[in-house]
Amino acid sequence: MGLKRYSAFAIAKEAMSYHQNWERAWRSPAPKPKYDVVIVGAGGHGLATAYYLGKNFGITNVAIIEKGWLGGGNTGRNTTIIRSNYLQDPSAAIYEKARSLYETMSQDLNYNVMFSPRGLLMLGQTEHEVRGYKRTVYANNLQGVSTEWISPEKVKELVPIINIDGPRYPVLGALYQARGGTARHDAVAWGYARACSAMGMDVIQQTEVTGVRVEGGKVQGVETSKGFIGCDKLGMVVAGHASVLADLAGFRLPIESLALQALVSEPIKPCMDVVVMANTVHGYMSQSDKGEMVIGGGTDGFNNYTQRGSFHHVEETVRALIETFPMISRLKMLRQWGGIVDMTGDRSPILSKTPVDGIFVNCGWGTGGFKAIPGSGWAMAELMARGQSPLTEEFSMYRFREGKFIDESVAAGVAH
Ligand SMILES: Cc1cc2nc3c(=O)[nH]c(=O)nc-3n(C[C@H](O)[C@H](O)[C@H](O)COP(=O)(O)OP(=O)(O)OC[C@H]3O[C@@H](n4cnc5c(N)ncnc54)[C@H](O)[C@@H]3O)c2cc1C
Repeated sequence: MGLKRYSAFAIAKEAMSYHQNWERAWRSPAPKPKYDVVIVGAGGHGLATAYYLGKNFGITNVAIIEKGWLGGGNTGRNTTIIRSNYLQDPSAAIYEKARSLYETMSQDLNYNVMFSPRGLLMLGQTEHEVRGYKRTVYANNLQGVSTEWISPEKVKELVPIINIDGPRYPVLGALYQARGGTARHDAVAWGYARACSAMGMDVIQQTEVTGVRVEGGKVQGVETSKGFIGCDKLGMVVAGHASVLADLAGFRLPIESLALQALVSEPIKPCMDVVVMANTVHGYMSQSDKGEMVIGGGTDGFNNYTQRGSFHHVEETVRALIETFPMISRLKMLRQWGGIVDMTGDRSPILSKTPVDGIFVNCGWGTGGFKAIPGSGWAMAELMARGQSPLTEEFSMYRFREGKFIDESVAAGVAH
């Protein structure tokens, strides 16, 4: 199998044959009758789980089954913000683990994921928000997460295009994480898929899981559009479809599925080299390497499975951002899309065993799970291999029954 390494030397060598002989980045095999582990969902979290099962635990008889295409769910639809400035200790631990893994991901996977720790600002625009963010800075300092509170003048210095004297909510300062930033979302999925394939795992696309076979309280395998595939352990990592999959296995999850949307402008010259989140007016923006302004909006106010989102959010988001960055009023918007996000009541994820022996679930990342992909995969792999992980202990699906919430909803206000 082996992984042919990408390198400057490889580019020079392939140039000799006019780049016609690059091997495929991953294989597209037919499913085997049985695997040690089946992961449902080839988004970032599913692929990262499989990758760390192989890398950290030597478990490589693994299939990752995807009903569409690699990263075609939320992983390929998000606005790629990476940060770890959460309030609660369990959140800070898993998100900072993820952020630190992003630092070396391109080298680890031998795949350029374009991690860009360009700095991230969450604007404080009300006294309430200022107090909340200052509290987060204190908490982060105790958790070993590097963040600081900065003045409006410093905000203006970092973001010259911002209007700090906004008509409704002037900028009172910002929660700043200097090593927060962005990465190329598709590349994260592709990099993990390539590494999984090289370890001998089967990435099976265009195959929908339509049933889960359980006998005597233990998982036996999954029914798919390509027939039955057996497994000893099953990881359900399907974001907005988490409750659909759980239903197939006969249990319920405290998840609501909603459309969250984003849009991009026409490409323009570089004008903003940080990520800015304006949570009170609600909008966030960064500039892609192509020059497009990447803009994130809100979730629909009602549950749905569309990958579209309602129009009024586009209007509200653009209005909020024009208030914050008046120059964008002159930009044309090129594309708008949505993804189905999986929301829990406390806005924290679920990485958990389930009532069915051998089935594990990873979901609930809601509007903010791209940043968590490597940390989540690392922790989920440990949970599946060993039956427990220090990073997942608090994120059990039973915490809602037990009242042990990890409440990030009020702390973050918004969670992207
Ligand atoms: C518009 C938008 C903006 C966002 N912005 C950010 C951001 O800036 N920063 C951030 O950190 N997060 C952000 N997020 C959230 C982030 O995208 C998600 O939390 C993360 O990508 C979830 O990854 P995943 O692997 O769990 O899910 P997905 O990438 O959705 O993967 C799940 C996969 O499961 C597959 N699947 C579902 N059902 C089945 C089935 N029955 N059989 C087989 N396969 C199945 C789906 O096709 C899908 O590919 C945003 C999300 C959206 C929609």
